[in-house]
Amino acid sequence: MPGSAAKKGYKFQSSTAVATPIGGVKDEVLTQDVESQKIHENAFGPAKQRTGWEIKASALSLNTHNRIRNIVEAMQIKPNPNKAMIPLSIGDPTTFGNLKAADETMKAVLRSLESGKFNGYAHTQGHETSRQAVAKYSAHQRPEGVIDPSDVLLCSGCSSALEYCILALADRGQNVLVPRPGFCLYHTLAEGLDIEVRYYELLPEQKWRADLVQLESLIDKNTAALLINNPSNPCGSVYDEAHLQQLVAICERHYIPIIADEIYEHFVFPGSRHVAVSSVTREVPVLSCGGLTKRFLVPGWRMGWIIVHDQHQRLGTAVTGLKNMCGRILGSNTIIQGALPDILTKTPQCYFDRVIETLYSNAQLAYKMLKQVRGLNPVMPNGAMYMMIGLSKEHFSAFKDDTHFVQELVNEQSVFCLPGSCFAYPGYLRIVLTVPSAMLEEACVRIAEFCYTHYKKDNRALIEDRLLED
Ligand SMILES: *Cc1c(COP(=O)(O)O)cnc(C)c1O
Repeated sequence: MPGSAAKKGYKFQSSTAVATPIGGVKDEVLTQDVESQKIHENAFGPAKQRTGWEIKASALSLNTHNRIRNIVEAMQIKPNPNKAMIPLSIGDPTTFGNLKAADETMKAVLRSLESGKFNGYAHTQGHETSRQAVAKYSAHQRPEGVIDPSDVLLCSGCSSALEYCILALADRGQNVLVPRPGFCLYHTLAEGLDIEVRYYELLPEQKWRADLVQLESLIDKNTAALLINNPSNPCGSVYDEAHLQQLVAICERHYIPIIADEIYEHFVFPGSRHVAVSSVTREVPVLSCGGLTKRFLVPGWRMGWIIVHDQHQRLGTAVTGLKNMCGRILGSNTIIQGALPDILTKTPQCYFDRVIETLYSNAQLAYKMLKQVRGLNPVMPNGAMYMMIGLSKEHFSAFKDDTHFVQELVNEQSVFCLPGSCFAYPGYLRIVLTVPSAMLEEACVRIAEFCYTHYKKDNRALIEDRLLED
């Protein structure tokens, strides 16, 4: 137990985000000039002029890595030329053309454009009417069912919402707790700024619930936030209210705010229900990140948002910090902002139902097929658009690790999955459930063939080894 190192009360200070308001106070600007002069002198000697081109990338930019890209680029991939490629790796649900944005969603954007009213800058948090629309759409996230538009901040996609939250709460040297397996963007956003990422473990045999004891053991007084991704990418898990209560209780004990990545909040399969973590607590501040991307199938539109849930104003200056962060890019895309009220109210329920049906029937199909394959251990998802598949290491000892398995699977069968390593979780594969079902079925057949070949071969090798020993 962290005990003495733990915080004594909710007293948030925003990270350095507060110190840089747009067109900040004069004194502050002067102080900054002196600071930057000092930095300049340290780096180049006292007030010396440059004598040649000395351009160097910043530490932040060089320490910003996309783990998926790095892992995938390091593989030696030569797809089997006799089999058409099936990418079960692509997280963009619009890639295959079977899942499309609703007409009503697209018409809303046309009307926004044609009105001619949304070509200018908006308030950096977003137009009032657009924020009102998001507040109404998200009202279920509050125990009392009402959200004030001033608690909504529109961002450039859910990724920028997450970036603002992490950067507004954490400074260099502080830490953020993130799930393993988990979406690698959290790591990408934090590491460049020397914000430490500490992984709490999710347990596949317990529907990917968090290991609460291990999670709590990570906390110290420098823990700036707990990040919860529910429903989860890559797990497809959906937490019930009881588990969310357990997570909230830990945060309450240690005075830690929650960043909730709820981009999949409405992507839940029949039999499960999504509960927003903010709806189960009045005590712990929650920054909920969402957006249009997944549910409305428009990742390229870059519209996301943060909803600040903070009944007792415990976030303190961190709210100012968040608002300052929005000023960094002068606000999000206004054409989409103009369309938000109609997108959020006029896209018909039957459209959403059809998308969920497709994902759910694909999940069932893949689960049923892969469950029968020796050496594979798929975990049935309850939401989102992915499935995790465990690899039985001892039966696939021909492969060094999950990345090697994935590489050989592409080279023999032209089926591309993402290795669990991309989500800090080796020994698993992640497949997407957004591909057309015939394609998914074919992919499962090929995966089964691949496993059959290598599982068998392995057994034979074992027997041969024994014969040699005798
Ligand atoms: C897709 C995804 C996002 C990013 O959404 P954008 O709106 O495209 O930025 C954030 N979190 C998770 C878990 C995702 O899968």
